[in-house]
Amino acid sequence: MAVSGSGDVPAEVDVAVVGAGFSGLYLLYRLRELGLEAIAFDEADDVGGTWYWNRYPGARCDVPTTDYAYSFDPGLESDWTWSEKYATQPEILAYLRHVADRYDLRRDIRFGTRITAAAWDETARRWRLRTGDGGELSCRYYVMASGCLSLPKTPDIEGAGRFRGDVYFTGRWPHEGVDFTGKRVAVVGTGSSGIQSIPLIARQAAALTVFQRTPNFSIPARNGPPSPDRLAALATDRAGYREAARWSRGGVPSELTDVSGLTAPEAVRRQRFEDAWQSGELFGILGVFSDQAVNLVSNDLVAEMIREKIRGVVSDADTADALCPTDYPFGTKRPCLDSSYFETFNLPHVRLVDLRTTPIVAITEAGIDMAGESLPFEAIVFATGFDAMTGPLVSVNVTGTGGVTLERKWERGPETYLGLMTAGFPNFFMVTGPQSPSVLSNMVVSIEQHVDWITDCLRRMRAENLDRIEPTPLAEAGWVRHNQDCADITLYPRANSWYMGANVPGKPRVFLPYVGGVDAYRRACDEVIEKGFLGFRLDGPAGPRCNDGVIRRIQPDVAMVLDLMASLGLPPMETMSAADARAFLEVIDASRPPGPEVGEIIDAALPGPAGDLAYRLYRPPSQGPHPLIAYFHGGGWVLGSQDSDDPFCRDLCVRTGSVVVSVNYRHAPEDRFPAAVDDAFAAVRWIAANAAGLGGIPGQLTVAGWSAGGNLAAVTCQLARDAGGPDIAGQLLLHPVTDCDLGRPSYSSNGEGFVLTAALMRWFWDHYADEADRVNPIASPLRGTLAGLPPAVVITAEFDPLRDEGDAYAEALAAAGVPVRHIRARGHIHTSLTMVDVVISGAPVRAEIAEALAGLRPATVLS
Ligand SMILES: Cc1cc2nc3c(=O)[nH]c(=O)nc-3n(C[C@H](O)[C@H](O)[C@H](O)COP(=O)(O)OP(=O)(O)OC[C@H]3O[C@@H](n4cnc5c(N)ncnc54)[C@H](O)[C@@H]3O)c2cc1C
Repeated sequence: MAVSGSGDVPAEVDVAVVGAGFSGLYLLYRLRELGLEAIAFDEADDVGGTWYWNRYPGARCDVPTTDYAYSFDPGLESDWTWSEKYATQPEILAYLRHVADRYDLRRDIRFGTRITAAAWDETARRWRLRTGDGGELSCRYYVMASGCLSLPKTPDIEGAGRFRGDVYFTGRWPHEGVDFTGKRVAVVGTGSSGIQSIPLIARQAAALTVFQRTPNFSIPARNGPPSPDRLAALATDRAGYREAARWSRGGVPSELTDVSGLTAPEAVRRQRFEDAWQSGELFGILGVFSDQAVNLVSNDLVAEMIREKIRGVVSDADTADALCPTDYPFGTKRPCLDSSYFETFNLPHVRLVDLRTTPIVAITEAGIDMAGESLPFEAIVFATGFDAMTGPLVSVNVTGTGGVTLERKWERGPETYLGLMTAGFPNFFMVTGPQSPSVLSNMVVSIEQHVDWITDCLRRMRAENLDRIEPTPLAEAGWVRHNQDCADITLYPRANSWYMGANVPGKPRVFLPYVGGVDAYRRACDEVIEKGFLGFRLDGPAGPRCNDGVIRRIQPDVAMVLDLMASLGLPPMETMSAADARAFLEVIDASRPPGPEVGEIIDAALPGPAGDLAYRLYRPPSQGPHPLIAYFHGGGWVLGSQDSDDPFCRDLCVRTGSVVVSVNYRHAPEDRFPAAVDDAFAAVRWIAANAAGLGGIPGQLTVAGWSAGGNLAAVTCQLARDAGGPDIAGQLLLHPVTDCDLGRPSYSSNGEGFVLTAALMRWFWDHYADEADRVNPIASPLRGTLAGLPPAVVITAEFDPLRDEGDAYAEALAAAGVPVRHIRARGHIHTSLTMVDVVISGAPVRAEIAEALAGLRPATVLS
């Protein structure tokens, strides 16, 4: 049966596509190339998508048009010349029409047709689609190229439907244009569309009132001819330029900076900001500092410089204040590019109403009522944005296997694999779906990548005689978690933005796009294919197959550190002498962030069995006395000092409110086993005996350590128990060495590539102890008696060779009746948690450690 009322549509096609914007057009082109029968539908009467609907005055792209264009066909590129740096809506629409004509795409597009429902038929292994006018068709593959910003949000203002004057929505602007001459006009909303249209509406209107709920950061676009630099780069090496875009962070070739806002001198900060301001490019202002998306202090430097600019332009101080965003970090809502937006508020007939101080009471037949004031209008323009990303997808009644709808599955937020597919919805693809870079990127680059991935997937399936594909729940859960991990290390989740779904009442608050970058994302998508469709279940005449798994398990910032280290090609420590390895570690330590401020730091020495032991005491800023922590640094009994673990000790001090005493001990190979143990035990006894003098609460001593230091802490607790003192209230063992058996599985699965390697661990043991000594419980505490030891907090990291022996120690302690809190640091490596202010994802784990330590203390101390 053919679709009724929408032209000539076959009853069955290979692929049905929703949307005829940038995504749908390119998809049709590629599908046709594959020889698949495909048809696209769009509610609109022509191609263009975003650029068909958004015809409001001032509508332009905010990514330079040299870059906001297809790259798949060099012929198309040489055929088209952009007239401006940021092209207007009519020019972009003309471009997309040109594309449709050039490749003769219209014959496979049905315009004026909305897809209202799609249901998976498992028996036929096909999707059954319904159109707005009651037509039906079936397809093997169903692709929603329906856009991220294609469903305008209906204004949630009392009386919005009552107004008798003219009502306009920026996302559904009349084709014939609007003349506001002589009219009193209201614009509700100051997002991108509002900011673009307000200066032009103000030029015509007799009076313009702008209703602002949230002020937005915006920088001057400095529009003009396309950038000569970009044009030259394209002319010299078009293919290279496009390839650089594909492997860039945001889809536009740009250099990433390593200048941190925290450490850069004021003059450098100012210069970098001014350069970005002058560039009039979003990726410039979003990349002034390397850390502005993750560090609030660095972010606020940029935010404040923008606020200075706003105050410098807007003459009325109250209006300027109202236009300055202050309650969310810069960049966490999409910043805007404007042409004389802030200047517009200096015009005598333009007024700003700040809805946070003067809310709208109701829209009436004649205008807008606020508390104590009624404003009459002839026209209201709603620039109120979109139900972004998920809205267009769930607005179609998509039903997958078992009768579950997409809307129900995503009740608590979208769950996708790579933002391309979702489990339970076989053969259903999304272009720039949630949890892909999409709206955080130059979307044309992301669209091309998705379309290429989807069509390549269909080509491979056909070649392998497969016709059903669906992600596994495991792969999908892993991707959802990875997305969350990426968002959590940034400031993005702190804003009530449309990225978070916060602009739509009742929409779940989750961060929707993938923030890890276009480059990292592309790598993940490619890897999934290289690993034999990792995380997908496939089926067809060739039979079922599934290579289940998770594509990204490591924390994103840890992955960045590992990539950086790999790129430096550092020599393995185990190839060095102990002296060279120590010097090498010192050089690395010198370049890292210092860690948090503490109340006081004292360097001193305590008596050890073979001479004085240097220690560093960290005192919290609060009034003492405090709980006390005796701490032993990591470094495989060979390396390290109170300097090497300084940032971690500061963090431990501040988070736990404890005095931390970080004690040095003798190192191997100069002083082999059991010298370090003797020193550690002596130090703990001395600290316990001098607790009050150190500012500690007597009886409130925790013994702590990282790695080999964790080994010494564990051993010390056993020795103290056997010696009948000193009293130790708790032990904190961070990735401890607990046993000399290097045959545990984590030694092979995590033995290479995660900083601490199996080879290095072997080198440490060889330096530290003879074979015969290693089985001694004071070298391998897992072999000791564990009953009667102090309560323990044991932390193990997923990608640490020492993980399994740490797990074993936690389990053995619990089996021996010792209270244990075992914290498993998911996605972390041996060095993650001590890389304070570098591995940001380690911070929540350190917070959990502090909370666990507080739980070890008796109630009397807590109160
Ligand atoms: C004003 C504005 C400016 C923008 N500027 C930029 C920019 O500078 N850079 C950038 O990267 N991105 C920008 N974007 C994002 C822009 O949406 C994308 O760049 C791109 O145009 C998306 O193309 P698309 O084909 O994926 O989706 P769209 O262009 O949104 O097209 C989707 C189409 O699907 C149709 N559709 C949806 N659901 C159905 C259905 N159920 N049945 C039938 N048809 C349906 C819609 O009618 C629409 O025509 C901007 C967005 C807006 C709103």
